[in-house]
Amino acid sequence: MKEWSEKLNIPLPECNKCGCCCLCASPSVPHNKLLENAANGEDFARDFFSIFVPYKNIEEAKKLYPEIIERSLKALSKTGSDTNEPVFYKCSYHSKEKGCLIYEDRPELCRDFPGLPQVIVGKQCAFYDWTIECRKKYKELKSELEVLKKMKKELDNIKYQQKAISNNYLLKRIPPEYKFLVLCPSLSLVSPVNSHY
Ligand code: SF4
Ligand code: SF4
Repeated sequence: MKEWSEKLNIPLPECNKCGCCCLCASPSVPHNKLLENAANGEDFARDFFSIFVPYKNIEEAKKLYPEIIERSLKALSKTGSDTNEPVFYKCSYHSKEKGCLIYEDRPELCRDFPGLPQVIVGKQCAFYDWTIECRKKYKELKSELEVLKKMKKELDNIKYQQKAISNNYLLKRIPPEYKFLVLCPSLSLVSPVNSHY
């Protein structure tokens, strides 16, 4: 997250502790795969299940965070990578009155949220504008890169053409009896001594 901010020169905001990411989490990894990862000892998955529990169904989560759920479902339908119904989670350590009950000991995944600008965050999240600005700048830089790539290709073509013109010019200056050395360069490797045999 810090890296994105530095590379794109967009300052990182401070978390406003709205609790939205604590009560409406939807990791990009599908539920079953996440369980498998946790069983295999993967750090993220283990940390995740140490604090998060799934909502009974999408409707339950949707009542609380309709906007995030809508946007997440829309994003998922675009990728079409997982056919199972997506699962949304809430943290067992979030209190409506006191916020995070284990704030000083919260896992790394909480400290690093949202991590990437591609992550869907609620409008109440302090990082909402940050994700939009980062995505916009990334898109702009990507299209600038495409233009530069195109320009480089054109420049290479010009260089190639100039080289061809210059070779043609040199070729014209070579006496006709030696031209075969240029046209068949491998023959020029034949030693004049050997060539007498
Ligand atoms: S949703 Fe954003 S602002 Fe709210 S607690 Fe999470 S990181 Fe902080
Ligand atoms: S541990 Fe704290 S910061 Fe992390 S999700 Fe739970 S309530 Fe939020």
